[in-house]
Amino acid sequence: MTSPYSDCTEIRQAVIDACLSMNTLGINQGTSGNISVRVGDQMLITPSGVAYDRLTPEMIVSMPLKGATPAPGQLKPSTEWRFHQSLLLSKPDCHAVVHAHPVYCSALAMNRREIPACHYMVAAFGGKSVRLADYAIYGSAALSANLDKAMIDRYGCLMANHGSVVVGDTLERAMWRMVELETLAKGYVISLSIGEPHILSDTEINDVLAEFSSYGLTQD
Ligand SMILES: [Zn+2]
Repeated sequence: MTSPYSDCTEIRQAVIDACLSMNTLGINQGTSGNISVRVGDQMLITPSGVAYDRLTPEMIVSMPLKGATPAPGQLKPSTEWRFHQSLLLSKPDCHAVVHAHPVYCSALAMNRREIPACHYMVAAFGGKSVRLADYAIYGSAALSANLDKAMIDRYGCLMANHGSVVVGDTLERAMWRMVELETLAKGYVISLSIGEPHILSDTEINDVLAEFSSYGLTQD
């Protein structure tokens, strides 16, 4: 499926609106998150070091999906441009990437825990668990490689000692997934605090994966 987006003021503004909504949705703190969308053979990505409420459409950075250099005259792209670029390249049907530091996702990631099939919504991320990507310093090629591995056949993962990342066929779907992932993480953390969560069997979660697949909830 080709990207539904073209490089126009509307999609640039949609990226800004999504950034601004991350704090009200409870999936990010401050300006630590970043968002990208695929536009043809380019990606639009939030710039580095600009407060969301100061962003204007022309500040969103356009850079090639293959290559490290944005066209001249633009702001610097997010320090995390490498993994945005790599995920868009490796998942041709996904056209949006959302990265954030949601509190409960980050709490699990600090404990280096993945999310098992403790709730059927795990299936919304494409498999029987939400994996944890190995740690590497932010912005590095090593972090990008770790995320690529954790995201094989998945639409979201936790990032050790860091946060979480999700993808979607649209920006709207990616944002929905991040809210669902943080809700799932919150439920899992609370369930750990009051006892020992029961994990769904492979058969039980496979049944959900099959249902979600027919509804398009796991397919981008
Ligand atoms: Zn981050």
